Amino acid sequence: MSHEASRSTIAENIARVRERLADACRRAGRSPDQVTLIAVSKTKPLDAIAAAAACGLHDFGENRVQEALTKIPHAPPQLRWHLIGHLQSNKAKPAVEHFHLIHTVDSPALAQRLDRLAQERQKTQPVLLQVKLGDEATKSGVAPTALPALYAAVRALPNLRVCGLMTIPPFCPDPEAVRPYFRHLRELRDALQAAFPSDDLPELSMGMSHDFEVAVEEGATLIRVGTAIFGDR
Ligand SMILES: *Cc1c(COP(=O)(O)O)cnc(C)c1O
Repeated sequence: MSHEASRSTIAENIARVRERLADACRRAGRSPDQVTLIAVSKTKPLDAIAAAAACGLHDFGENRVQEALTKIPHAPPQLRWHLIGHLQSNKAKPAVEHFHLIHTVDSPALAQRLDRLAQERQKTQPVLLQVKLGDEATKSGVAPTALPALYAAVRALPNLRVCGLMTIPPFCPDPEAVRPYFRHLRELRDALQAAFPSDDLPELSMGMSHDFEVAVEEGATLIRVGTAIFGDR
């Protein structure tokens, strides 16, 4: 049995997500062009990606480097790829080769490795620092208390550019329940920005299919939406 959504379903889903995004921006007094919609295409085939690209989406997210490598070379070349899953150091090289933005830097060792690989490619690699909020089973992400030290270490690396922070809050069916996590991420970013006023930390990657409106109200600039675009996985 195939659960793949048809091209027209994907187009309708994207229209609906854009309406929800516009409504959330209106409530928050923000402009929709301050928020980038990332279509999370993990487990989805190339024709679903092509269908979403045909609707004008440019930014796509994958959580595994290996899976992304099977798609990126065959996808429309203008697309920008975001790595949103945990990055193992043995996948760092293809990550630097293929991803526009790596959302999941959470240790000095990973950052140093990415910095070396970016230097080899003569590239400045944009990254986000992933923060672990809530004492969940998830292992990825730096604890808020360790964030300032990680930021200080990563900002010193010449071939990486830290653009902001990312988080995956604990799953709650009620989106209002995760609002404090989104707010916390914004406050952590604001604190770093205040500590390093000449740095530029505009990006907050937070919010998924069921809770992105709340994330946008709390300042998200990158929302990661899979199911609401492509259907169930
Ligand atoms: C899968 C995934 C998403 C998308 O989740 P949906 O609920 O399908 O929108 C967002 N962020 C990360 C890190 C993911 O792994």
